[in-house]
Amino acid sequence: MGFELSDRLKALPPYLFAELDRKKKEKIEQGVDVIDLGVGDPDLPTPEPIVEALKRAAEKPENHRYPSYEGMRAFREAVADWYRRRFGVKLDPDKEVIALIGSKEGIAHFPLAFVNPGDVVLCPDPAYPVYRIGTIFAGGEPYSVPLKEENGFLPDLGSIPREVVERAKIIWVNYPNNPTSADATEDFYKELVKWAKKNNLIIASDNAYSEIYTGEKRPLSILQIEEAKEVAIEFHSLSKTFNMTGWRIGMAVGNEELVKALGKVKTNVDSGQFNAIQEAGIVALNLPDSELDKLRAVYRERRRVMTEALKKAGLSPFESEVTFYVWTKVPEGYTSADFAEKLLEEAGIVCTPGSGFGPAGEGYFRISLTVPTERLTEAARRIENLKDG
Ligand SMILES: *Cc1c(COP(=O)(O)O)cnc(C)c1O
Repeated sequence: MGFELSDRLKALPPYLFAELDRKKKEKIEQGVDVIDLGVGDPDLPTPEPIVEALKRAAEKPENHRYPSYEGMRAFREAVADWYRRRFGVKLDPDKEVIALIGSKEGIAHFPLAFVNPGDVVLCPDPAYPVYRIGTIFAGGEPYSVPLKEENGFLPDLGSIPREVVERAKIIWVNYPNNPTSADATEDFYKELVKWAKKNNLIIASDNAYSEIYTGEKRPLSILQIEEAKEVAIEFHSLSKTFNMTGWRIGMAVGNEELVKALGKVKTNVDSGQFNAIQEAGIVALNLPDSELDKLRAVYRERRRVMTEALKKAGLSPFESEVTFYVWTKVPEGYTSADFAEKLLEEAGIVCTPGSGFGPAGEGYFRISLTVPTERLTEAARRIENLKDG
């Protein structure tokens, strides 16, 4: 049929993994034991108390009706309480917290509240694709801010041209970072807040990985920075922290005006998340930290195994103690796509070529540590035995 797609759909970047997906399928059909380290989706189950809480909450008829748009008061209180305990950040659950149907939902909708056609949104590159796509859907123009290894994969704010900054409404940041596994420093956040205030810009921080750390240093929330709440909204999620990607529950917190405007968009496009899931979310947010320590120990071991294997293969993975990704430069003479193909052909391993996260990701590949440890160990063994060249 000849239905013409909208310009906004036509403006989306092409799906870069189509060819890799096809090759992966072909390998599986040939009987190759393919190990997929491409997707960042925790393999470990949601902790039992959360599942039990959902079962109980699903039985309550009062939960079967429309939820409130902004999320249950009890869920918003649990979020505020968690931010206070974890980050020392004080939030008003009535004005500075809103529930999301997964943080992706909020990230995609947020630009609709503030971006007019012709407005610029500053998006990191490489990055989670939704910052760009949400911008395009809102009629805005994404402007790529490269994340370079020599800057610790932090954006160089001073390098953004003056005329771009003047047209910009929002800057997206994401630390701990997907895909580079870099983390932000307090100094960077301080500089960012000062810069955003000076230039009248909104900071949209995506903090989905704040609990996925394996070292001594706990990642920050931008809201810990003085005066950040004047300009910042932070998107968070139960997905990665509690192995709940399938549940679709997250939150946006921070500046009252920003939270309220996002709520206004949402009121007109969705009707909130199932109360039973929010009740289970409250249980998640109140789990003792020892529960998460078990998870962190698993990722720590997996990172060790994979990093060692990559080094034995002559590669130099970016040193990191956050996220469940390993970000590594491809060997000399390869593009990201070439090297991803080599890994699949010679080792039966699927990784994500860095170019899939934006042009500045070219020259790298991402490995996700979200497969069972014995499979990851097998993948590591195959990587160690990779032939050079
Ligand atoms: C996984 C992920 C998210 C969102 O997850 P939800 O399941 O939608 O809450 C957001 N940002 C980044 C960078 C992610 O990797």
